[in-house]
Amino acid sequence: MGRKVLILTEVKDGKLRQVSLEALSVAQQIADGEEIIAALFGDDSTEILSEISLYGAHKLYTSTEASLSVYTTDAYTQALVQLIQEVGAEVVLMGHTGVGKDLAPRASARLGAGLVTDCTGVESVDGNVIFTRPIYAGKAFQKKSFKKGILFATLRANNFAVKESPVRTEIVSFQPTIKDLRTIVKEVVRKAVGGVDLSEAKVVVSGGRGVKGAEGFQTLQALADVLGGAVGASRGACDAEYCDYSMQIGQTGKVVTPDLYIACGISGAIQHVAGMSNSKVIVAINKDPEAPIFQLADYGIVGDLFEVVPLLTEECKKV
Ligand code: FAD
Repeated sequence: MGRKVLILTEVKDGKLRQVSLEALSVAQQIADGEEIIAALFGDDSTEILSEISLYGAHKLYTSTEASLSVYTTDAYTQALVQLIQEVGAEVVLMGHTGVGKDLAPRASARLGAGLVTDCTGVESVDGNVIFTRPIYAGKAFQKKSFKKGILFATLRANNFAVKESPVRTEIVSFQPTIKDLRTIVKEVVRKAVGGVDLSEAKVVVSGGRGVKGAEGFQTLQALADVLGGAVGASRGACDAEYCDYSMQIGQTGKVVTPDLYIACGISGAIQHVAGMSNSKVIVAINKDPEAPIFQLADYGIVGDLFEVVPLLTEECKKV
């Protein structure tokens, strides 16, 4: 028995987020023949709409209502709740992104619905949808399922296979009634950040206090550039002002699940590990052979990162 699934998709820098494609692919598994409905608020570019139709959405509700052009909790909650009620969605999926983390609790509470956050696995057993999520900073996994009512889930990026399933997608123009807004965004001033999005990167080169300064991070950036990846950091490095807090990975920073995580000059404190332990392959470069990060690493290099990283960069350039 399938479930009617609604996916809130997100666009970042003019591109559909990778985690939205993952959510659409998870929906194919849960829906099991039932309708898959995608929603996209604040954007209706033809390119994005046709990309969504490649991933199995039978219907795509778009809204270019002015108050949805930039995310606000108030406006998006009202729009999403109305859409869920209009289409009769049973499962609501979105990425565990800034938007997902803020919106899912608000909208689910408004509907008295169940919510599972930061899911890393989904399975369907006899009509029950079972979500897996890490707990205790990634030391254990919890499985959650709800027998009744609407179920919300936010999905951690890079944890689900993206599966194409082209269908004819009906585009529906959605006109929610949005009123009594307490916040209105007048202007968005973006920090100039280039390159690959850290939370969705397939390769992350991360630096800790061992990197010793902002200059050291340029050494890591060179390796990340060759590998098409992003640069992350430990809180130790951020606290020491070697880099920006937006790069922090861990319990109080970003959670990443890349195919390859290269930890350079990071000791491997539990709070850091909480943000990267699910990476598929972990490489640690540290001059201390006793550093705890080596217990977690698939490959360890005991050495000075300022010698090892440039060598790796040169070798990777040859491939
Ligand atoms: P250190 O522990 O000082 O390690 C530096 C490492 O670099 C050492 O292992 C050293 O051997 C190695 N090294 C030095 N020079 C070189 C060299 N030239 N080449 C190779 N290796 C070298 N931390 C996070 O990262 N993320 C979080 O989200 C986070 N949240 C926290 C929340 C709370 C409530 C608390 C209390 C702490 C949190 N921390 C977090 C901090 C965490 O406990 C550690 O202090 C931090 O991760 C240490 O950063 P580090 O590994 O860069 O530094």
